Amino acid sequence: MARYKDEQCRICRREGQKLFLKGSRCYTDKCSITRRNYAPGQNGQKRKKLSEYGTQLREKQKTKSFYGVGEKQFRKYFEMASSKKGITGDILLQILESRLDNVVYRLGYGSSRAQARMLITHGHFEVNGQKVDIPSYLVKAGDIVKVREIRKDSKIIKENVEVNSSRPVPEWLEKDEKTLSGKVVRLASREDVDIPVEEHLIVELYSK
Ligand code: SF4
Repeated sequence: MARYKDEQCRICRREGQKLFLKGSRCYTDKCSITRRNYAPGQNGQKRKKLSEYGTQLREKQKTKSFYGVGEKQFRKYFEMASSKKGITGDILLQILESRLDNVVYRLGYGSSRAQARMLITHGHFEVNGQKVDIPSYLVKAGDIVKVREIRKDSKIIKENVEVNSSRPVPEWLEKDEKTLSGKVVRLASREDVDIPVEEHLIVELYSK
């Protein structure tokens, strides 16, 4: 039997949910969750009942994987969210959605958040006319994210535009495929976020 090597798909299978970590494959029936929705490993088909702490921890790990954020950065976002007025969990998700790599992915110029990060790091994007090569850059309402003129003929960008043209763009963003850009109309609200997460569990975990 072939050895199962796909690390990203293993993360989804462990969480029992599609986390869209592999780009276009995630939208096809080749997706591992579609084919075998049980945890990886020998005992993967026996789902264990988790403790309260375990449930909270899984919810945090799932959200970190979904956005591709490490523990230190995730904790920093939590602290930013708790220092603001409003519901901490909602603000946490809004901050995560505001990351430039997420915006590039949501606009369809990256096939996954991981690929969007790579493209940003390699200088493919600008925000309000200024080159930005930091994937964690947080966008604001009114910002224009655009493929830089010198990168507009990039094969990978062209492929992404074609493959992702039918992928829905969330309402808080406005895509302009002709100019390879997108406007942040407003920041994302909880209703805009499609990750199946119970963010209050993350707040409870960090509040212990
Ligand atoms: Fe793999 Fe994507 Fe399916 Fe997750 S959603 S299991 S990363 S193909």
